[in-house]
Amino acid sequence: MTPDYESTLYGTLGISKEVYLFCEGLWESLNSRFQEIDALSEYNQLKVISAMQKNQVSEACLLGTTGYGYNDLGRETLEKVYSDIFHTEDALVRPQITCGTHALALALMSNLRPGDELLSPVGKPYDTLEEVIGIRPSKGSLKEYSISYSQVDLLSDGSFDYEGIKNAINERTKLVTIQRSKGYQTRPTLSVRRIGELIHFVKDIKPDVICMVDNCYGEFTEKEEPSDVGADLVVGSLIKNPGGGLAPIGGYLAGKKECIENAAYRLTSPGLGKEVGASLAALPAFYQGLFLAPSVTANALKAAVFAANIYEALGFAVLPDGKETRHDIIQAVTFGSPEGVVAFCQGIQQAAAVDGHVTPEPWDMPGYDSPVIMAAGAFVSGSSIELSADGPIKPPYSVFFQGGLTWQHGKFGIMKSMQKLVEKGIILKDFDKRNL
Ligand SMILES: *Cc1c(COP(=O)(O)O)cnc(C)c1O
Repeated sequence: MTPDYESTLYGTLGISKEVYLFCEGLWESLNSRFQEIDALSEYNQLKVISAMQKNQVSEACLLGTTGYGYNDLGRETLEKVYSDIFHTEDALVRPQITCGTHALALALMSNLRPGDELLSPVGKPYDTLEEVIGIRPSKGSLKEYSISYSQVDLLSDGSFDYEGIKNAINERTKLVTIQRSKGYQTRPTLSVRRIGELIHFVKDIKPDVICMVDNCYGEFTEKEEPSDVGADLVVGSLIKNPGGGLAPIGGYLAGKKECIENAAYRLTSPGLGKEVGASLAALPAFYQGLFLAPSVTANALKAAVFAANIYEALGFAVLPDGKETRHDIIQAVTFGSPEGVVAFCQGIQQAAAVDGHVTPEPWDMPGYDSPVIMAAGAFVSGSSIELSADGPIKPPYSVFFQGGLTWQHGKFGIMKSMQKLVEKGIILKDFDKRNL
């Protein structure tokens, strides 16, 4: 039952009655989707609690160390908890891993040696990895260390180019990198099942190749993780899903003992490996964030499903569409005009609890070939498990929306974005008479 507009605070917060009723009307139809998401989050919540109990997480684990950080009980236990959640032999979970790109670079640079080849069988990797690999020249890239790169694009229908992949695997192929999320591209996100099929195919051709998955934005969006279907290494950022909105920094790698050992020796130093790296004051947020992560990710999934359905009903192209199952938390909406992208992002920003009063504008960010607008009013700077959106100002003028620590915040953000688009005349005045 939709509450009376007048009995809510939406009016006070600048949402018109028309926008409110449109969104509420649609939300009621999403009941069964939301129940599925709740069931998923329940499953993953128990997975996390079970891993914490099995490893006897105790109050002492929350204390942290300083200096060298030898015998850091909390750090070592947390890494066991991650290994159990991902069903891997070992894990590296550290505040010294500064972001997702760093975690991925660490995994690649530590497990590849001069003369090896890296293969991406799923097309172009995430933008920031171009410089890590050396696709765009950069100091310290894999290319500078004589590690070559080959890429096989997805076929036009989004399927794997098995023939091309088979031809690309050679005696130098050492590591295969598979990006789960579409990131800021328009290909479909890969389900864990599809990742499993791809790994199986690759291992049939070359059993000893390391299969690594860029797991950013994918954690806890399904019951299984890529490491459950054969990935040797999964890698991600703690200011996305697994940090649960609380981790203030950090990245993780979970996988085969040898892969993790290589990464630890690279992160700290040969000979030292996992034994050093003080956790300082980060552990309470790492543990509590991980505990909240299944539920926070579920909230972000609900917001994404809601956004897809609202903007689909308003006649915009959305990816994934309103009905598809989800394998990450990112929602793309295509507006076809710069004004649409700007209005959407400004609306999201106006819904923020932090910096809700500022107005984002497009700017020329380093590393991008067009101006980019970002809505990011977050407690943790740059955190994209929090309500956020960004869009490059270039055709087809799409925005990428993600996050929402609470579903209610995600819902409010989408309402605000719609309100802004109505005010700018980008959504036609008679929207409430169309499509529904
Ligand atoms: C976010 C992301 C990265 C990079 O993470 P940063 O923390 O921004 O460095 C890499 N790959 C994918 C798919 C991502 O979504």
